[in-house]
Amino acid sequence: MRKRIIAGNWKMYKLPNEAADFAEQIKERLTASDQVEAVICPPALYIGDLLQRFETSAVKVGAQTMHDTAEGAFTGEVSPAMLESLGVHYVILGHSERRQYFNETDETVNKKVLAAFKHHLTPIVCVGETLEQREMHETVSIVSEQVTAAFASVTAEQAKQSVIAYEPIWAIGTGKTATAEDANEVCAAIRHKVETIYSKEVADAIRIQYGGSVKPENIAELLSKEHIDGALVGGASLDPDAFVQLVEAGTHVE
Ligand code: 13P
Repeated sequence: MRKRIIAGNWKMYKLPNEAADFAEQIKERLTASDQVEAVICPPALYIGDLLQRFETSAVKVGAQTMHDTAEGAFTGEVSPAMLESLGVHYVILGHSERRQYFNETDETVNKKVLAAFKHHLTPIVCVGETLEQREMHETVSIVSEQVTAAFASVTAEQAKQSVIAYEPIWAIGTGKTATAEDANEVCAAIRHKVETIYSKEVADAIRIQYGGSVKPENIAELLSKEHIDGALVGGASLDPDAFVQLVEAGTHVE
């Protein structure tokens, strides 16, 4: 049984006091569970503060991106060694917004995935197709290529611990969710791809999230599907009550 993972991607939202308020509001409400893990990925500036606030709670902290080298003259960047030494657990890599606005490619995503493992961080690797690609029936080939590229030179043991987030670009921030059936079908194809790269054992272990307009109203149906092991949530994760409901949904669904 794969442990579900509900991760909130705050993107570039919240001021410091708002981030602190959110943490104070949820930290006692989410308790450790065998069924579901809760992760908040705040802007990098707040990672240290949230790690302290969540120290005695079950909520883990992730980063939204990072550079691929431990240190260097890269103005403005955050390194994997910095995240590791702070005690960060997860790092989102290859989010479509990073690919679209910050020139991330399959190759740079792969470098970052390898760097994450070197620094004991678990990557949440984002893949997904554009509306145009979906309409051309290219979804499965696009996400398969993205997975293959992201996991180049990643060992089976590392792959087993990884998280993949399937986020159709047309469903992000648009209010349009893929139907649970469609999302499950693509997640199944991703799992199949992982099996062809590694083995059934790795494919059975790797966790695959769906992301794109997930909210308390639609999460139960998504999580009821065989290949959907959690959600990567943008907008709805900014509200403490909604985030708690999303995580609680992970403990309820059979
Ligand atoms: P929304 O939940 O706001 O659609 O964002 C999804 C996303 O991009 C999470 O990484």
